[in-house]
Amino acid sequence: KGHVEVRNFSLSYETIDGAVEAVTDTQIHVRPGEFVSIVGPSGCGKSTLLNAVAGFLKPTTGTVTVDGELVKGPSAERGMVFQQYSLFPWKTVRENVEFGLKMRGMERSQRERAARTLLGLAGLEAFERHYPDRLSGGMKQRVGIVRALATGPKVLLLDEPFGALDAQTRVIMQQILTNMWQRLKISVLFVTHDIDEAIFLSDRVYCMTARPGSIKAEIPIPLERP
Ligand code: ADP
Ligand code: ADP
Repeated sequence: KGHVEVRNFSLSYETIDGAVEAVTDTQIHVRPGEFVSIVGPSGCGKSTLLNAVAGFLKPTTGTVTVDGELVKGPSAERGMVFQQYSLFPWKTVRENVEFGLKMRGMERSQRERAARTLLGLAGLEAFERHYPDRLSGGMKQRVGIVRALATGPKVLLLDEPFGALDAQTRVIMQQILTNMWQRLKISVLFVTHDIDEAIFLSDRVYCMTARPGSIKAEIPIPLERP
């Protein structure tokens, strides 16, 4: 599960100066359980493509499907992590993680168990009662990832999630993300402008050209994972 297919995709933004094509004639896929990155220069359309997979934007032409079903809007089956942490500051770490589950009507004890398991995988068990403003940037972003995973998505989408972090924290975060991906066996689509990061994390890397972005090359990573 979690097979993403993007076919003949293009997306233009309507602006006061007319239509601006951000992504043109693009094909990508993510196989179930695969970790795939998209790299490319700033402004090439990576976020646009990812937001269309998330269901926040509608393609101008082409299709986005997950397990053969057309994506028509956001859904809990596709968890999204943004560069900015976007946690609720008035909720504790665990409440932030449980929020989506509460919205879906899951009862308290079940919610707590689900949240604790994931927080444990992310090394955050000691911080469940903390408020986000007391956490470091790296920890906030871990909470963001755990929150996106809480509803049990088939696909995890990450938009430059470590872009605001220092180099040392990035390495820790990359390791944590790899561990969680291996444990949970879900598909991941990861957007970054950092080719090193993409190669370190991924099974396969798509390279996008400058705007209007289009995938022109694909790098399979043949290395065994640690
Ligand atoms: P990336 O994620 O690779 O940095 P984006 O997908 O954010 O690229 O942006 C691709 C192009 O689309 C850029 O030229 C950007 O200025 C333009 N763009 C993004 N969002 C909008 C918008 N809401 N309206 C108009 N143009 C936009
Ligand atoms: P950064 O502050 O660079 O984002 P981390 O978020 O990984 O780094 O950790 C911040 C501090 O919290 C570190 O000193 C780390 O040792 C400590 N820390 C991280 N995870 C835990 C944990 N699960 N239990 C106790 N301390 C932790």
